[in-house]
Amino acid sequence: MRDKLTRSEIANAAGTETPQAPSAARKIYPIVKYGAAVLEKPGAPIKIFDAELEQLTEDMFASMYAAQGVGLAAPQIGLSLRIAVVDVTGGKNPEARIVLANPEVVHAEGEVREEEGCLSIPGFRGYVLRPQFVTIKAQNAKGETFEIRGENLLARAFCHEIDHLNGILFLQHLSMLKRDLIKRKIKKLRKQGEW
Ligand SMILES: [Zn+2]
Repeated sequence: MRDKLTRSEIANAAGTETPQAPSAARKIYPIVKYGAAVLEKPGAPIKIFDAELEQLTEDMFASMYAAQGVGLAAPQIGLSLRIAVVDVTGGKNPEARIVLANPEVVHAEGEVREEEGCLSIPGFRGYVLRPQFVTIKAQNAKGETFEIRGENLLARAFCHEIDHLNGILFLQHLSMLKRDLIKRKIKKLRKQGEW
């Protein structure tokens, strides 16, 4: 997920800090764009929590920071799996890094309509109604179950990423008019070889 509220923060962070430990050479995955089938089908549950999965989550964080996003779901790197990473500080605060394996919403409250974007739909944004507060139940990269509550942007990021794991894109929350407009523009870009 991408959000305009954090863009300047991300730019600042990118200029002054390195989110990765120097020893860790991370794989930067290319981001799959709208139109790829993997983005529109539900991911398979994560069943094995091993070193390989931990490495995948580290690579997902690195790929997300490289793309200046605040959330990244496995289908966005071509893997149909129920795992996502979120960091609404854009790498500024290591404690803000959240791995969500097999996440589900256990409680939602309030409503906020805000502009939202997606790394898989670059250049397009739209207003999406999301809960103001959500409580998520998920597993971390070690398989430990936890609950976390998010508010505003964090709640939005959780909902956006869980949607990805269910094969849902933010376009589906827009009015038909707005959605069709974006789809037509993407179609045009694709014809021009720019998508
Ligand atoms: Zn997205």
